[in-house]
Amino acid sequence: MKRATEKSGKENCHDHETKNTSNGTGQYVNGKQSTKSIIEDAKKFSYTQGAAVIPPLLVFLCPAFAMVLSYTIVKLNGSPYALFAMVKSNGWIGLFQNAWLPYIFGSKVAWCYILPYAAFQLILMRILPGKETKGPITPAGNVPIYKANGLLSYFVTLAAFFGCAYGLNLFDPADIYDHYLEIIGAMNVVSLVFCALLIAKGRILPSSTDNGTSGSVLFDYYWGTELYPRVLGWDIKMFTNCRFGMMGWPLLLLCYAAKQHQLYGLSDSMLVSVGIQLIYITKFFHWEMGYMKTLDIMHDRAGFYLCWGCLVWIPSVYTSHTLYLTNHPNQLGLPLAIAIFTIGIISVLINYDADRQKEIVRNTNGNCTIWGRKPVTILASYRTTTGEKKTSLLLASGWWGVSRHFHYIPELMAALAWSLPALFNSGLPYFYFVFLTILLTHRAIRDDGRCREKYGKHWEEYCKQVPKKIVPFLF
Ligand code: NDP
Repeated sequence: MKRATEKSGKENCHDHETKNTSNGTGQYVNGKQSTKSIIEDAKKFSYTQGAAVIPPLLVFLCPAFAMVLSYTIVKLNGSPYALFAMVKSNGWIGLFQNAWLPYIFGSKVAWCYILPYAAFQLILMRILPGKETKGPITPAGNVPIYKANGLLSYFVTLAAFFGCAYGLNLFDPADIYDHYLEIIGAMNVVSLVFCALLIAKGRILPSSTDNGTSGSVLFDYYWGTELYPRVLGWDIKMFTNCRFGMMGWPLLLLCYAAKQHQLYGLSDSMLVSVGIQLIYITKFFHWEMGYMKTLDIMHDRAGFYLCWGCLVWIPSVYTSHTLYLTNHPNQLGLPLAIAIFTIGIISVLINYDADRQKEIVRNTNGNCTIWGRKPVTILASYRTTTGEKKTSLLLASGWWGVSRHFHYIPELMAALAWSLPALFNSGLPYFYFVFLTILLTHRAIRDDGRCREKYGKHWEEYCKQVPKKIVPFLF
């Protein structure tokens, strides 16, 4: 990959003294992160993951879990009791033979959906226009550049989906539901291999100085070796997280709705659940460049945790509540449907507003209003791994003055709202909500530790002003 130079002097927003270089296709600058600091980084990450044994355990268990959850919903009517009965009579091997083995390498049909979809997303990333946008400065002092064409790609994808399915009759969306287990099986295999290739790439051909190994191959596999890997100009994390995982989410929902329509006609529960999620995902792509400044991108490396998570966990677990609805067409009635939909939309809007407040304060260097007033901010300084001193603004008013991660509450409320239409015949549709509660609680603790370490006394000052992590007065 060639490198070119662009001196930017001062960033006008956060990370004020950032000098960077870029050739505009997403290259980097400056940084020299020592292997030692990478190892320390990895150890910290490992520690926050609980213990050294948890990462390998997750690598072993999560792929199987994604298959079993999907299998239970599609083949066992979403009944955990049927699953337990099956394990009781056939044992764990029997479960493997039923729930995974038949789908382990996908099927010809599954690959015929996956490969053109992936290729289409890669093409859209490359050809659609978008403003070049700087990502956050990395620990090694690099500044990645992205093309902001997420929302356009999202609308083009939806148009292509409807055009190919209902205009050109190239495929039947309900057929994707019929081959869903094969699709998840295929994605499982390809993602596990892909994560291994990512380690090899990080070791042999790293894209930037933000790379290194922890010394343990297993941990490297779990966490990854590179922060911003790129191949032929394509940003891997943008592809796996946004353009494959997040982009696939609405398409799967539409396929489940099409299958329900074919079997029973469309229920109001399906409309409410899919409607809230489509608004949430549209918001995500509208804010995609903001996502490039979150923990997933700034801190977590491209490995199993992130990439497998987005390639398999999102299509399977994040859509599981609506997958369940396909064969459970509950009729909520207008008042309940409107109530759930309203709660969902308000939650999505509050979550978006919190993300927006943080972004606007940093983009304007605090010269804006939050809830009609000048924002309360803390100018927090820190050093990069190369020893350069930099500063960031911490917002201590608006949603960020209510608690330090208040935005996780509307995130969870929205997830609950789009799961509730499944009602209460099975606990499985609530698995995503429970998982997200654990993920976000862990994330708030992890982010707090990271920010305390990064900003030291400035973070302590913020904690004094805003004492609770997520729930005001409680936690
Ligand atoms: P956050 O939006 O919480 O951002 C965390 C980073 O923001 C910190 O590391 C720090 O970075 C900076 N920061 C922290 N406090 C402040 C402050 N007071 N003022 C300004 N900057 C601050 O990151 P997340 O990635 O957790 O969340 C982003 C969005 O994604 C949210 O809407 C969340 O709900 C959603 N999300 C959804 C998930 C899902 O699976 N559905 C999972 C996780 C998140 P710096 O180093 O730049 O200072």
